[in-house]
Amino acid sequence: MNYPSSIKDIYQTILKEEDLGAIATYIPELAKVNPNKFGVHLITKEGFEFGIGDYKDQFSIQSISKVLLLSLAYQLLGDSIWSRVGVEPSGTAFNSLIQLESDLGIPRNPFINAGAMVICDLLISQLVHPKEDFLEFVQNITGNTDIIYSKKVAQSEQKVGYRNVALCYFIKSFDNIKNDPEEVLDFYFHVCSIEMSCQELSNSFHFLANDGFRNIHQEEVISMSKAKRINAIMQTCGFYDESGEFSFKVGLPGKSGVGGGIIALHPDKYSIAVWSPKLNDKGNSYRGMRFLELWTSKIESSIF
Ligand code: GLN
Repeated sequence: MNYPSSIKDIYQTILKEEDLGAIATYIPELAKVNPNKFGVHLITKEGFEFGIGDYKDQFSIQSISKVLLLSLAYQLLGDSIWSRVGVEPSGTAFNSLIQLESDLGIPRNPFINAGAMVICDLLISQLVHPKEDFLEFVQNITGNTDIIYSKKVAQSEQKVGYRNVALCYFIKSFDNIKNDPEEVLDFYFHVCSIEMSCQELSNSFHFLANDGFRNIHQEEVISMSKAKRINAIMQTCGFYDESGEFSFKVGLPGKSGVGGGIIALHPDKYSIAVWSPKLNDKGNSYRGMRFLELWTSKIESSIF
């Protein structure tokens, strides 16, 4: 299969179509992004890379970093984390409060905001310098020490993140946040503010397409069994209340963010990152979803 020519064809097809999404504006800093940016980058398990469009531009990866956050926590704390957060799809929006009341403060999964906050709390209890240590983990798996938090984006969200504040304090009321909620929120907003290009993003997720091993030196980031489980959660929970739709149309584990990025991967084959800032009404990149649907259709290969 000629991956580059398939990527080029689909990219051109999508450029001709109308972009029906709308940029996220609830975080003021994200509203400043050029809505017409569009990039794609793929890296195969063997290390072959191909990119097109704005694949070298950095953007706010937002909720995509929840997968990397879980990877670090799972590696450090093992299965004990599952007593604090579930592995069920929520079927609700990423920032929903609704199920926490009946679920007694145990978030349905680590990829909704509530779940990621509990993971932040676990890491704060475990690490002396959680922000620095998480960033170092991300830099290591990407092989790039230039990756940093965007202070501007973190502060911008901190100023208006009323719903996230509500989520964190609500979970605290059920005693499923152990640390100071302000510290947890500060860590959470920083985690979301990481900026990467499509090229860096596909590289950072390479270990999940490679049985837990990082490509460059074949170092184990996480065990094979844990990598499979993280992929399983991406498959079922990576797109909030559009997870079923993504599974149906694309058939790969993946994760989206409100910055317009999507990462998807085929275990043992490749990881692919797409970025287009305009989102559909579920908060997932309109063109990103469309690109990946055409991609697995064209190459006639998904995990199913
Ligand atoms: N930082 C964003 C928030 O908490 C992340 C949401 C997302 O990417 N879906 O609202």
